[in-house]
Amino acid sequence: MLIDVREDGERAAGMPAGAIGVPMGEVLDRIDAIAPDHSAPILLSCAHGQRSLHVAMALQGIGYEKLASVEGGFVRWAAEGLPVARGAFDAEAAERYSRHLLLPEVGAPGQQRLLQSRVALIGAGGLGSPVGLYLAAAGVGTLTLIDDDVVEKSNLQRQVLHTDARVGTPKTESARVALNALNPGVRVETITQRLRAANVESIIRDHDVVIDGADNFPTRYLLDAACRRLRIPLVYGAVHRFTGQVSVFDARREGSPCYRCLFPEPPAAADAPNCAEAGVLGVLPGIIGLLQANEAIKLLLGIGQPLVGRLLCFDALAATFRELRLPRDPRCPGCGANAQFRGYADIEQACSAH
Ligand SMILES: [Zn+2]
Repeated sequence: MLIDVREDGERAAGMPAGAIGVPMGEVLDRIDAIAPDHSAPILLSCAHGQRSLHVAMALQGIGYEKLASVEGGFVRWAAEGLPVARGAFDAEAAERYSRHLLLPEVGAPGQQRLLQSRVALIGAGGLGSPVGLYLAAAGVGTLTLIDDDVVEKSNLQRQVLHTDARVGTPKTESARVALNALNPGVRVETITQRLRAANVESIIRDHDVVIDGADNFPTRYLLDAACRRLRIPLVYGAVHRFTGQVSVFDARREGSPCYRCLFPEPPAAADAPNCAEAGVLGVLPGIIGLLQANEAIKLLLGIGQPLVGRLLCFDALAATFRELRLPRDPRCPGCGANAQFRGYADIEQACSAH
């Protein structure tokens, strides 16, 4: 019997053929089930041969008789061309994601899930930049970028996906270059269109999470309606001058509010100036976007407490976070008991009328 006592993440790239993987800290608890016969020979292996030697001594202490440790561990095993069983990841992926693989809350199954995930980013601008970069770095398998703008010089103060040399190119294309430079394994799909009543469902369908990085109200209201109808969690983020806010609207969860529980009707244009009109501190979308990326990763992995029913507000000047309770509004025009969906065109019209 051959037992590889490295951690799950370390074994993801492969282990000695025929070995059983049991992390060092679990061997003593599980050895009775794995090897009930104390006189059967057991060969132990780790990365370099130290941990396996410790485990061998511990097993000797509880009565196992025929123990051996692989000197030089898996490193030498592989170098000498002994048979290796491939892990769930190739060597490149195992190295790239090694810090995730070491986390029990992520590990090989979690990383596998990220690699199979699809996330739609509405907007490849201030919020979309940090979200895109960190989701690509984390190995989210498919990122769909939706944006119809071209890169302008005035974007570069905060939209860190883009570069001076790419001013004038479509943001989706510029973002794809940046994201694939960071992680060539991520599939980046680009949709250089504005999100509209006619295309919103077909564009976001088949995604696991949608990131709201929009800079206008028609898009936000359309997204909210489509995510609710398709039951896709929506990670909301917004920035204004020196403040920003984040929340998660998840129609799959009982009692989750929606965007319209927060903003029932679109505001008048004069009450809702965008970054181009009001200005924004350059680092602010970076901070808010990273909180969105954090929520997206948690939703994809099914870990932690998502920001559902909570609105997290950040004040850059005071350097304070404030959390507001955001319960579902039973009279919400979007998700309330009497809410009526009269089509996406209706929503688009209501927003432009304002
Ligand atoms: Zn609602």
